[in-house]
Amino acid sequence: TIMITGATGQLGSLIIENLLAELPDNTIIAGVRNMDTATHFKDKGVVVRCADYDRPETLQDAFAGVNKLLLISSSHSDDAVRLTQHTNVIDAAKAAGVAHILYTGFAFPQAGNKGTSSVHGLTEQAILDSGMEYTILRNGLYIDFVGVLGLNEAIRSGVLATQPGDWQFNAVTRRDLARATAKVLAGSGHEHRIYELAAAQTWTLAGLAEVLTELAGKPVIHTADASVQHWIYHFLNSIDTKSTSNDLEHLMGQPVTSLKESIAPFLNLEN
Ligand code: NDP
Repeated sequence: TIMITGATGQLGSLIIENLLAELPDNTIIAGVRNMDTATHFKDKGVVVRCADYDRPETLQDAFAGVNKLLLISSSHSDDAVRLTQHTNVIDAAKAAGVAHILYTGFAFPQAGNKGTSSVHGLTEQAILDSGMEYTILRNGLYIDFVGVLGLNEAIRSGVLATQPGDWQFNAVTRRDLARATAKVLAGSGHEHRIYELAAAQTWTLAGLAEVLTELAGKPVIHTADASVQHWIYHFLNSIDTKSTSNDLEHLMGQPVTSLKESIAPFLNLEN
């Protein structure tokens, strides 16, 4: 059996949707914090168990008989809490006899990074130290982060104004991540592998303006403007935005979703 924690979340739900296409429903277990939120899984024949990262007493029972456990990283805002939550899951998995643990980390960790990626780095280390078979699925930046760059305003005004600088991004859709993750969960030969689930190319903001032009059917130009302030630039500065990988498309067995298709859902296009 395969269990997915954080199954009610956006990524977890998509992974279960993909797994249902690959495996019998009674081999999939959805781990949820609150059983009341899980009726849609039960309706599909998916087994549901309570697995609350904050309540270790729920975890060992939840993981009984599970062969492969996917730990979806916690959405808690405090990194110290997140690490404790992840450690709770890893310890309970080991105690329950889980053979193979899989974890959603963050792509292209940078040496010495003290921010979010260190939670992922420390969790990865705890998984390696546990002695269970493991697969690390380092997820690329969700495309949502590109959606915050004022795309609708850029289309309206014809100008994508951004902070000056050599900004790039390698962002992917949860849908692609879920497709690749389901292939790994349903397949074999992924033990002791670390995958960088990101795109095989990065995009620039000038490239983003070109895609907006195509989608809007009217010119959108990119300009650098020192007065533009947004937290996204601080965040992009804290991560590796220039590396690429073929892992995601290899695991999916198809190219990653294009930037055009990925950002279209964030736009209020008139036609
Ligand atoms: P969501 O916020 O949609 O889902 C988070 C899931 O974690 C929910 O199912 C939530 O349960 C569950 N969860 C939170 N706390 C606990 C807990 N104490 N015990 C058990 N489950 C818990 O996030 P996504 O699905 O979009 O993303 C998955 C993860 O990816 C995030 O949690 C985060 O760690 C990471 N992330 C990655 C980004 C990237 O760019 N690669 C960006 C942002 C986040 P409930 O439904 O009960 O709240």
